[in-house]
Order: sequence, then C-alpha cells, then structure tokens
Amino acid sequence: MIQNYRDLTRLEMEQIDKEKTIVMIPAGALEQHGNQAPLGTDDFIAEAMLDYLKKELPEDFPMLYFPVIPVGLSTEHKNFCGSITLKPDTYYRMLYDICESLHHHGFKKIAFLVCHGGNAPIIQVLSRELRSEFGLSAFILSSGAFGHPDVKATVTEGNIWDFHGGEMETSMVLAVHPECVKLETAVAGRPDAFADNKALLPYGSVSIGWVSEDWKDPQGNPIGIGGDPSGATAEKGDIILKTSARQLVPGLLEILNW
Ligand SMILES: [Zn+2]
Repeated sequence: MIQNYRDLTRLEMEQIDKEKTIVMIPAGALEQHGNQAPLGTDDFIAEAMLDYLKKELPEDFPMLYFPVIPVGLSTEHKNFCGSITLKPDTYYRMLYDICESLHHHGFKKIAFLVCHGGNAPIIQVLSRELRSEFGLSAFILSSGAFGHPDVKATVTEGNIWDFHGGEMETSMVLAVHPECVKLETAVAGRPDAFADNKALLPYGSVSIGWVSEDWKDPQGNPIGIGGDPSGATAEKGDIILKTSARQLVPGLLEILNW
C-alpha cells in the first residue's frame, strides 16, 4: 500500500516491512518560476506525484511517501525575489541525517524523487555514500518526463526553449493549484546570452554553471525562465503529470524486486 509516511502511528510503523518497503523522498524547491508560476511550483508537483503514482501502481505496492523536502539547492535562482536556497553542504547533511534515521529504523530502500534539477548533483553524491556507509540501496528518479513524446506534444509549436518555469511546469501547477498561477503576467524567456554559442547547454555539450539571469525576456532583461508559458493549460498539466508518473512505474517495480 502507498501511504504518506507522516500519516502512520508508531505502532503502524512497527508493522511495516522495512526490508521490502520503499521510502520515496520527494526533493522539492522553493524558487522563482517566472512572473506567472508560484515559488512552490516544484513542491506542488512533488505533492501531486503521490496521487498520480497511486493511480499507476498496484494497490498493494509497498511504498511510504516521505514529506516533500520543501527547500533545495536553488543557488542559480537566488537573485530573484522569494527564492530560497540551502548551501550544498547543508543540503547534503540534511538529507544524510534523514536517511541515517531511516536506516536506524531498518529501512533498506530509498528512492529520491528529484523535483528540481539543481538538487540532482548532491543527491547523486549522497546516494553513493549511503550505500557505502549504511548499505542502503538509494535510487534516483526524476519527477518530470520532459523528453517523453506525449509530454513534448503538449508544448505549443514554436516554443522551442521550454524548460524551467515554462509552459510544461506552468501547466502542471494549473492542473493541481490553478489559483496560484497568474498567466496574464507571463513573459517568455530564452537563453539570450549564449544564443550564438551552440556548444553551451542546453543545446550543446559545454556547461558553464547556469544562473537563471542568463535567461532573458524579449527586451533582454533577466526573466529566469525558459520558454513561453502563455500556452499552459490544466489539461496539458494533467497529461504531463500522468505521463511522468507512468514513466516511474517500471523503475519502481525493479526497485521492489532489488
Ligand atoms: Zn521547477
């Protein structure tokens, strides 16, 4: 059964099969997502994944959904109002301590659900340490199936830069918390500073440590998002969330049999 970790009593937790049960830790973020989408966009998506996963996994699937970690590593957004970030070492230590407690109670399998790309490098390093130090099997999954054809098909034609805070992410928030989206304020963003240098990510192979100010509005002002969110809809968001949950299923079934 898939349950919220925090909903169980101590006695119920004692009954949980710790060898078998996967603890999924959703790693969210509290950071700017353009003019139109809320600071908690990644946290809302992380929360929504629980309901979407419940619909896709067998009813008896043994998984506990840990409370969403509401703040992550968002250094690249820190100059936009409201963005909150942990330092890399703080983030590492916090997740390490949570996992050490889980290990102490006998859990063996942890699945990190990365809901903000900036969190991934720390979680990758941490996962190897957890395995080496505690014998924990730590797996890393991503909350967004952004490369899936069904998801790509939701993006408006010509919106080629869609990425952070763009049409896809805004659609997902519209599907679960429409009251928090102010679509009338949406302004498109593109990586203007590097438009002529195709070797630099996201289209090339060389990364320079992006900050979101590198993404500019049509006037050349920092806007901090990639793509044009103006075509976002709740229906598209529902498709993206459903497809993303479905994409996680084969990996989760493998983790169960690990
Ligand atoms: Zn996001």
